[in-house]
Amino acid sequence: MSHVFPRHSHAALPTAVGGDGCWLIDADGKRYFDGSGGAAVSCLGHSNARVTEAIKAQLDRIAFAHTGFFTSEPAEALADLLIANAPGDLDRVYFVSGGSEAVEAAIKLARQFHLENGEPERRHLIARRQSYHGNTLGALSAGGNEFRRAQFAPLLVGMSHIAPCYEYAERAEDETPEAYGQRVANELEAEILRLGPETVMAFIAEPVVGATLGAVPAVPGYFARVREICDTHGVLLILDEVMCGMGRVGHLFACEAEGIAPDILCVAKGLGAGYQPIGAMLCAGRIHDTIAAGSGFFQHGHTYVGHPVATAAGLAVVSEILERDLVPQVRARGAYLEAALRDRFGQNPHVGDIRGRGLFRGIEFVADRETRRPFAPTTGLAGRLKKAAFAEGLICYPMPGTRDGRNGDHVLLAPPFIATEAELDGMVDRLERAVTAVL
Ligand code: PLP
Repeated sequence: MSHVFPRHSHAALPTAVGGDGCWLIDADGKRYFDGSGGAAVSCLGHSNARVTEAIKAQLDRIAFAHTGFFTSEPAEALADLLIANAPGDLDRVYFVSGGSEAVEAAIKLARQFHLENGEPERRHLIARRQSYHGNTLGALSAGGNEFRRAQFAPLLVGMSHIAPCYEYAERAEDETPEAYGQRVANELEAEILRLGPETVMAFIAEPVVGATLGAVPAVPGYFARVREICDTHGVLLILDEVMCGMGRVGHLFACEAEGIAPDILCVAKGLGAGYQPIGAMLCAGRIHDTIAAGSGFFQHGHTYVGHPVATAAGLAVVSEILERDLVPQVRARGAYLEAALRDRFGQNPHVGDIRGRGLFRGIEFVADRETRRPFAPTTGLAGRLKKAAFAEGLICYPMPGTRDGRNGDHVLLAPPFIATEAELDGMVDRLERAVTAVL
């Protein structure tokens, strides 16, 4: 009997014993194409020599030095590299161990900034429905994923949730995409005014919604209007790029496609590419400087922040992404993948929408394509699709729709940036067989 406490108690899982490029290998020798990069993690695949060598080399020098006493060479170098490539006036990097921790740090930094900036009444965080920002209580409070929030509702902090920018389901027929974007962005202003502008500390959003909606980018102009509203009311803009950042959508930082920069930006997943647990919170210089000139102490911190081995891995990952020109490659392969998905699924009567950017793609399934009515939750489509795909040797990321029918079941695809066109074709073949088996 296993003594590991698994995520799913009812599933007997195969044992992963090897990785080979985009493929995972289990103890029986079965190979699985990693079509979702785990959950948008494995951007470089599973056997990148540069990253593993960097980890070993760092271990041979120093494994751990507490950041209350020391900085480290890889943390300094990785921060320099991120900031050299970051948009806007992002100027400082706070390293953490993952995405939830990055979001927790961002929320607390926003609050502490306002306190030290002489605006202690700013305490409200506004987020969006159908979002996901992590599983710790603060991040879960910010997120709008009802499925993940439901049983912990009594423990969550009250936060405002406005509409996401979800064109497929929510744009009115007689509305242009631009008009729709302005309408939903203006919900942010209405909520700020309702709460009292002087009490709002920050707005948080994913530039491309990942786990909850399945690779949904905003319509043109939405984020520019959000930026404008935040600036008007002195509200900090936090962008959560934990899933969609680090090249995944064809830009190193997803917000580059929107022509805006946030005040605080969270990344994780692709930053360590699965080789080490690492996330980061980047913030504007003025936020850091306000605290540096005030208390001089960011009142946050976990034991493993800025871990030398994790930052050495992150440094190798980002260097690989930049030096091998993988970001333009993501754009090209992403266009190839989109065409393949449209070719195979475009006519499927149960495929409502095919969407996404770069190598971050989603397919939303519907019971009725005309009315866009989702399948009833009782059909358990997402769970059955995950199983059928796994049997086909494909790892993908299906998620159920919401119980209130606001969005249907979808599958998220986030293959490694190194996937060849032939491998992407093979992934689509496997997905097609799995979809055929369950629909
Ligand atoms: N934010 C977003 C947008 C995510 O997709 C996730 C994880 O899926 C998180 C935060 C939480 O990251 P982690 O699972 O590394 O804590």
